[in-house]
Amino acid sequence: MKAWIAKMTEEQIDYQAVEKAGKMLLEGQLVAFPTETVYGLGGNALDAEASRKIYAAKGRPSDNPLIVHIGRMEDLERIAKEIPPSARALADAFWPGPLTMIFPKTDAVPFETTGGLDSVAVRFPSHKVANALILAAGGFVAAPSANTSGRPSPTTAEHVIEDLGDKIPCILDGGMVQIGLESTIVDFTEKIPTILRPGYYNQEMMEAVIGLMRMDPGIQNESEHVRPKAPGMRYRHYAPKAELTIVQGNTAHVIEKINDLAQKNCALGKKVGIICTDETAERYPMGDVKSIGMRSDEETIARHLFGILRQFDDDQADVIYSEAFDTPRMGQAIMNRLLKAAGHKVLEV
Ligand code: AMP
Ligand code: MG
Repeated sequence: MKAWIAKMTEEQIDYQAVEKAGKMLLEGQLVAFPTETVYGLGGNALDAEASRKIYAAKGRPSDNPLIVHIGRMEDLERIAKEIPPSARALADAFWPGPLTMIFPKTDAVPFETTGGLDSVAVRFPSHKVANALILAAGGFVAAPSANTSGRPSPTTAEHVIEDLGDKIPCILDGGMVQIGLESTIVDFTEKIPTILRPGYYNQEMMEAVIGLMRMDPGIQNESEHVRPKAPGMRYRHYAPKAELTIVQGNTAHVIEKINDLAQKNCALGKKVGIICTDETAERYPMGDVKSIGMRSDEETIARHLFGILRQFDDDQADVIYSEAFDTPRMGQAIMNRLLKAAGHKVLEV
């Protein structure tokens, strides 16, 4: 199977193509589409067979639940119940947008979609192509990131084609995504709303709206014995083929350490990749140096992270050294993904 690819932008949506893709979803087929976070691999969320196809196409473990995407606020009650006022307040503030909320599920949602759980994760994306597609497909689209399980999430249609181009019938190409990291996930089945995955919206921004929240201890302590509550956070993720190490500390020391390691590895005949920022790029004389973006604009760092990891795969790097990106607002989300990609290998200098 070779995917039919329909190009469009948010400003100029190809509604004919979207209608056709929506029909394919209603018939139980899969369609990849752009969202503001990353590309999603969509299937009709109320159709158990479609969900099974998603797991098969991605090679995703079947106990890792899917996020159900809606296109209208009023559709939330069809799939979720026991929605507390605090969740409604967060929805008012941040939906449509890069926020996923977890509630007890209704009978409308098959267990195949929720990985066997009684709860369902719901997101209302703001991307206009995603919104048009969801509405054309009847309102409920289950969509994990459109990558092969374990690979970095796709931020361009080319990434989707690379992983799934011969496995699914349709890809909507909306160009590069805006945010580049997956949504923030908040669990409302707990007494205190709990962040299961950091994302574009951080704890402080959400607490400003609903008051006290907590962070799932499994997020920070992955290498310890605490299991993260979001099943997907337990799996190895985003990993480039090369061995990736994060070097953390005072900037001058980080640069010195990375240059030292680059020199040693180059001498051994290894292909060395370096992930830095525009502010530091000129200070690395050796290796395949790639700037991820600007520290002065952290959104550029988030947007390019997954793409840069894929580029090093294409360049067949053997080892990669990355600066750490503890930026003020999205730093936790960026470092969560980078640490996973590095299998938590960190050098403190
Ligand atoms: P992805 O769609 O690839 O961004 O992955 C979705 C993430 O949401 C995974 O980490 C899932 O484990 C998590 N998730 C989805 N539904 C639930 C749920 N009902 N309870 C806890 N985590 C969930
Ligand atoms: Mg994913």
